[in-house]
Amino acid sequence: MLGHLVNRSLVILLLMTTSVAHAANIENARLWRSPEKTRLVLDLTDFIDHKIFTLSNPSRLVIDMNDSSLNSSIFNITLANTPIRNIRHAKRNSNDVRIVLDLYESVSPRSFMLKPNSTYGHRLVVDLFDKIQITDNQSAPQKSAPSEPIDGRDIIVAIDAGHGGEDPGAIGYGKAREKEATLAIAKELVALFQREQGFQAKLTRTGDYYISLRERTKIARNSEADLLVSIHADAFVQPSARGMSVFTLSERGATSEAALWLANKENSSDLIGGEEGVSLDDKDGLLASVLLDLSMTDTQTRSIRAGKMVLIELGRQNKLHKKHVEQAEFVVLKSPDIPSVLVEAGFITNPEDARKLKSHSHRKRIALAIFTGIRGFFHQNPPRGTMLEQHMIKGTLMVSAKPHKHRVKSGDTLSDIAIHYNVSISGLRRANGIKKADHIKIGQWLKIP
Ligand SMILES: [Zn+2]
Repeated sequence: MLGHLVNRSLVILLLMTTSVAHAANIENARLWRSPEKTRLVLDLTDFIDHKIFTLSNPSRLVIDMNDSSLNSSIFNITLANTPIRNIRHAKRNSNDVRIVLDLYESVSPRSFMLKPNSTYGHRLVVDLFDKIQITDNQSAPQKSAPSEPIDGRDIIVAIDAGHGGEDPGAIGYGKAREKEATLAIAKELVALFQREQGFQAKLTRTGDYYISLRERTKIARNSEADLLVSIHADAFVQPSARGMSVFTLSERGATSEAALWLANKENSSDLIGGEEGVSLDDKDGLLASVLLDLSMTDTQTRSIRAGKMVLIELGRQNKLHKKHVEQAEFVVLKSPDIPSVLVEAGFITNPEDARKLKSHSHRKRIALAIFTGIRGFFHQNPPRGTMLEQHMIKGTLMVSAKPHKHRVKSGDTLSDIAIHYNVSISGLRRANGIKKADHIKIGQWLKIP
């Protein structure tokens, strides 16, 4: 009896040692590609001690994790469009795991741990920064040369799709995700500005990846943006809350409890940035002094003016949550010199709004309303040195660079086409002699009035 007991305790002790040795399991892996880096995120059951280093000829990145185990199926992820050629892993020192990333080219790596949030548990984030900066057509626009002042420069609008990557934003009715709706609307908005003469648009993020709120304002500044518009979708515990809102930065915190709650919620996503996701509160002292600056006051005035015009346009075709421009301390609006507005394009937690936010034509409608509002604002307040200002001074009318013809594609409807080209359905019908609403054929050319 006694011998049996001793043996059993030994077995239990051994089992315990085994489970302690495997302090954390690496359960899942995700890859996010952004213009300047590739982010590898590993989901862990607990905090992990780790170390990363690079090897050359051929280029590799090694991730060593102490006291860990790994589900070997987790690396069945697509590596397309990343510098990673292959991912290997092996057990080391019986308790540790080594992951080796075989690379096409050398990278500048950085890693940090993230604490659990509402969506994920402990995570190890490994950022692989590209050594050569990729320049695409989204790169900073050239300033107009002083030798050609007659033409003037384009007005630059920075368009910010809220959230992205590890930060899904609000999860709404029918599992609708804020980060998807915001990017889709942002891309529609870019398309509208690119077609408009005298305007250029720049996205702060072009895909599903995370960038910090400060980075977003930095991108706007580096693009020498004349205005920043940040697109979000609202969420509330009561599904009955619905409609759109427009925010600008408040001078002294939020104007209402609800707005303050919202401000906290939107700002909290900066914590996801890890090491660079610094505390936002410590900026308030600095901000307070900046706010005193006259340029800030001017920026605020312009922001509110632009916000009002966007709100009017949104209200023409959508239900509004608030009938005036609200003010809150959203970090993304804190550029002291760039007028900035934030659009909450409906409540993702409301069944009707969530359905609309998923609809392609509704997203286009939202984009068109924002576009019309911003364009209207600039027609009334053209920035110095711009082509628009020159046209205003000379009294020459801006002619929009939109195409005059559209070839009907499969799935096109007359109302979609009307929204796309910012014309009325009746005008479109008249110009093309269409009697019935949907009497269009695939391949047919339509005149755009
Ligand atoms: Zn948001």
